[in-house]
Amino acid sequence: KDEVVCEKGDARIRVFVRKRPLNYREQGISTLFDTLTPTKTTLHLHEPKTRMDLTKTIETHSFAFDGVFDEFVGNRGVYERTVLGMVKSMFDGGRGTVFAYGQTGSGKTHTVFGNGEDTIGLYEYACRDIFQHYTTHPDSHSLSLHICFFEIYSGQAYDLLSSRTRVHLLEDAHGMVRIQGLKEIPVTTLKHLLDLVKMGTNTRTTGSTEANPDSSRSHAVFQIRLRKNHKVIGKFSVVDLAGSERGVERGNVGKRERFEGAEINKSLLALKECIRALYRSRSSQSMKQHIPFRASKLTQILRDSFVGARSQTVMIATVSPGSNSVDHSLNTLRYADRVK
Ligand code: ADP
Ligand code: MG
Repeated sequence: KDEVVCEKGDARIRVFVRKRPLNYREQGISTLFDTLTPTKTTLHLHEPKTRMDLTKTIETHSFAFDGVFDEFVGNRGVYERTVLGMVKSMFDGGRGTVFAYGQTGSGKTHTVFGNGEDTIGLYEYACRDIFQHYTTHPDSHSLSLHICFFEIYSGQAYDLLSSRTRVHLLEDAHGMVRIQGLKEIPVTTLKHLLDLVKMGTNTRTTGSTEANPDSSRSHAVFQIRLRKNHKVIGKFSVVDLAGSERGVERGNVGKRERFEGAEINKSLLALKECIRALYRSRSSQSMKQHIPFRASKLTQILRDSFVGARSQTVMIATVSPGSNSVDHSLNTLRYADRVK
């Protein structure tokens, strides 16, 4: 079922790394409750901004990516280098997916969904441009835009546009997965879309009860579909992944946390393996490839965004610059390096 015929096309996978600024704590500014020793930044970017070095005690690790962003690049700048091209191709059959991967607190949500205040996320820049193309498109009367917004937590899916109702995954004979009961809401104005996502984001973050875990333990998926006379012709997805450190939950944690950690680890590994397999298949002669989509719910759900000649994938790995995060940052850079 995981045999996929990869069409040759302009399918691409690009990997970027973004380093956020040091926060007040990391700058050593003490608060009333804690006095931290100043931490030094240990990550260095190199012109032409595709290389990143990380120094851990005496060793330096160097990596090369499609691009790296330092703390002076804002979300607009990141958007233009990573996602802008996907948005255009959505109108001629393209499928674009952007992942934010990294440790909790490294800037995944800030990058893709904004900070809820003055900084808007990549998804919003993308939707602004999508609406711009849509309203000026010569065929606009036969086109429509629809959004879905859901969360994957411990292998289950929850609809963020429907008070976090649990929705069920159904797999057909071809291994394709559909989410039964997931709301797909037609949107006619940008404002309507933004209001819905804001509501969904609130649903995601309010409360941290058992039924509503903290957002670092779930993957959030936002999708906008372009339909022409009801048929999906283009799609753009934004995935705010669970905190990568959650995959290695150990030590003094309960059974539930350990189970969740194992699920997160499984899905992040499956994602890496699928992207690697897809990339290899595209650069090899053999068209038929085994791609382990079924190894996790996340990859099963995203399968149709990955395959196809017109699919583009971007991974933005976010890293915290403080020396107290050096181990997690190194793990993030290694993961990102394996995906390319
Ligand atoms: P994550 O989603 O990876 O757990 P967040 O996006 O919530 O991390 O970021 C943690 C904090 O750091 C937030 O207060 C966020 O606004 C801030 N932050 C993250 N990235 C940046 C950035 N590039 N510039 C400024 N502040 C940032
Ligand atoms: Mg987050």
